[in-house]
Amino acid sequence: MQAVRSDVISTPPGLGNDLGGIRPANAAFLARPHRLLIDGAWVDAAGGQTFEVRDPSSDQVITRVAQGEQADIDRAVAAARRAFEAPAWSRMKPVERERLLHKLADLIEAHADELAELEAIDNGKSVVMARHVDIKHALEVWRYMAGWPTKLEGQTLPISGTLVPGHEYAAFSQREAVGVVGAIIAWNFPFLLATWKLAPALAAGCTVVLKPAEETPLSALRLGELALEAGFPPGVINIVTGMGPTAGAALAEHPDVDKITFTGSTEVGRLIVRAAAGNMKKVTVELGGKSPVIVLDDADLSAAIPGAASAIFFNQGQTCCAGSRLYVAERHYEDMVAGLSEQAKALKVGPSLDPTAQLGPLVSAIQRDRVMRYIGEGLTAGARAAAGGKALGSPGYYVEPTVFAGVTPDMSIVREEIFGPVLVVEPFADLSQVVRTANDSIYGLGASIWTRDVSKVFRIAPKLRAGTVWVNCHNILDATMPFGGYKQSGWGRELGREAVYSYLESKSLCINYAA
Ligand code: ADP
Repeated sequence: MQAVRSDVISTPPGLGNDLGGIRPANAAFLARPHRLLIDGAWVDAAGGQTFEVRDPSSDQVITRVAQGEQADIDRAVAAARRAFEAPAWSRMKPVERERLLHKLADLIEAHADELAELEAIDNGKSVVMARHVDIKHALEVWRYMAGWPTKLEGQTLPISGTLVPGHEYAAFSQREAVGVVGAIIAWNFPFLLATWKLAPALAAGCTVVLKPAEETPLSALRLGELALEAGFPPGVINIVTGMGPTAGAALAEHPDVDKITFTGSTEVGRLIVRAAAGNMKKVTVELGGKSPVIVLDDADLSAAIPGAASAIFFNQGQTCCAGSRLYVAERHYEDMVAGLSEQAKALKVGPSLDPTAQLGPLVSAIQRDRVMRYIGEGLTAGARAAAGGKALGSPGYYVEPTVFAGVTPDMSIVREEIFGPVLVVEPFADLSQVVRTANDSIYGLGASIWTRDVSKVFRIAPKLRAGTVWVNCHNILDATMPFGGYKQSGWGRELGREAVYSYLESKSLCINYAA
């Protein structure tokens, strides 16, 4: 496979995946019918419809999955409600719930290579990344969340109870599962996002209806198979594949769903919030981003250049916290643009199953066209593509890693989330200016600061309106570290203690013992 340079626009050879050589387990999986998981059984969609799944590396249809709609969501929610109330789940001892979660984690671990390959075929991401980022991190999240059921404690409350003279009270708070959870997820990290929702919800004792993204339903379905093998009671985990405006909307609106948790675009997030208002569901939404990367004048450029490249190009830029706006201290601006362009041009673009490829295709033709529209807008507005700027003429959905210099703050490539391998670079003069510019966004998911001066970190980090601020790193996530957004990047947090508690209600128990 040749390295693809920014000046190559014809079809480079070998950009498609050869599915003839995939693992037998995945070949068998792709050949099976893909139904909905409802009440512990695999069932056809009520309407009998299916939709196709494509390999983004080659644009080939690789399988079809059931297309669930309102009636299927109704069935799945009813099953989740029954399971939530059934003794098999509601009276399961916390230690048994932990054991069950660990059993599923064991199965994920045993099938990690296979899951990574499936994810790569379905999403277009590099199989190496899928194995060492997506599945590895997901496994850590399952393990971390598996530890929670035995630790969900309440408090003894020292109340004064002065309202009724002569009475004495003891009061306690305790935690209870929220109930039936609807989880709607995006396509950029399919297995990981399913994990981010399911693992804490199950640890908290909820039951779940998961609606994977229509672009990438496969690893969630495989996860469903593993969950059945682990022994989760029927109805605790339900998976309904289908379209957003039908299956997704039905789940978000459903009057018997207690909490909705969503990862996706801010635009759809707003629809989810409105739909959830009908029965006042609890809501967690993790939405878009346009995260700034700030390179200060004392930064180590030998770390900042590859760091900033990875911040944007990791996962083809299809990362909600991608470092898509780069702000560089004036004296380093030219060096950073040159260094990043060099990195972008050297990245090897290739199909997801090529272990040496560093950048895969985007997830869909629609996404490629969307990214190319932004690149076109940038060029028309007068930005200079220091690297990239073209789609690769392959049947797959490849876009060159692109670095824009000479941008101005009003350009759409600076203001809007592109969700592709497109970086804009701007110089800044001083710290107060860069804080202002970094915060000049409707989003507030992540930000990174590159510096050797710890005092600058403490001066800037508190002023950045972002849910995560990284220093000398970017896109680092951990099972223990809450992740989520300020402003229009969302409500609530994924991961860590905060995620588990977002699936719990707090109940106060007040006892009059001197009545
Ligand atoms: P993207 O724009 O990145 O494709 P979306 O926000 O459109 O991401 O999709 C994220 C998830 O939201 C997907 O599972 C999709 O099916 C779902 N979805 C899309 N539209 C709606 C909707 N109107 N109601 C509920 N879910 C939706």
